[in-house]
Amino acid sequence: MASLKSEYRLALEAGAQALEAALSGLDAQGALKRCLAEIFKGESCVVSSFGTESAVILHMAAQIAPDTPVLFVDTGQLFDETLAYRDSLAERFGLTNVRSLTPSPHDIAADDPDGTLHKTNPDLCCHVRKTLPLIRALQPYKVWVSGRKRYHGGERADIPRVEIQDGKLKLNPLYDWDAEALRAYSREHDLPQHPLLKQKYLSVGCVPCTSPVAPDDDPRAGRWAGQDKTECGIHIGADGTITRTTG
Ligand code: SF4
Repeated sequence: MASLKSEYRLALEAGAQALEAALSGLDAQGALKRCLAEIFKGESCVVSSFGTESAVILHMAAQIAPDTPVLFVDTGQLFDETLAYRDSLAERFGLTNVRSLTPSPHDIAADDPDGTLHKTNPDLCCHVRKTLPLIRALQPYKVWVSGRKRYHGGERADIPRVEIQDGKLKLNPLYDWDAEALRAYSREHDLPQHPLLKQKYLSVGCVPCTSPVAPDDDPRAGRWAGQDKTECGIHIGADGTITRTTG
């Protein structure tokens, strides 16, 4: 007889396939609407870093439902410009349910009391400051929406539209968008840019782990530059494995 765990897993995989089928033929906005406002209304949220490409998915979500829960992980090491951008985008788009998540004070006291863990163990630093707060905040939801895109390359190069991670479904409505598609949407809707973009920060994370990039560099080349690390961990399962895909 299958264990409860494997039965749950099978049900989750069936749910992922059903969601993928329900989104068939829909563009990014259509898929997002179907998920947030119809199939998983009240059971879904958007996770955003309010980074250089975040305005597109946030604008879409605001058009669909301004009270969509938007989870933002404030690691305590972010740029002031990102915090200001969060507030200005929320106000401009009319997003009424942006929730800033912070690390557990107990975890910080135990693992990173002087704020230098990123130098010696960036994976643990991301785990404490990003992954754990997000996992806790995601508990009430069945589905979370991510703004990841294939064109970023690396571990993102083959992400599908629907994934499974840590017992939940994850939707990537912009999975097949490229930089030009993002720019075109931003121009069409006159979306404000992240203030650090003009200083060549193509992808923005925490201050100690983000640097500007050269014009021809990969958009995420400035994240953990020079280290053997390309992802913070929130898109990796709690067991340390890369997100399992359905496609
Ligand atoms: Fe720590 Fe750097 Fe990860 Fe931020 S990006 S949580 S400072 S290791």
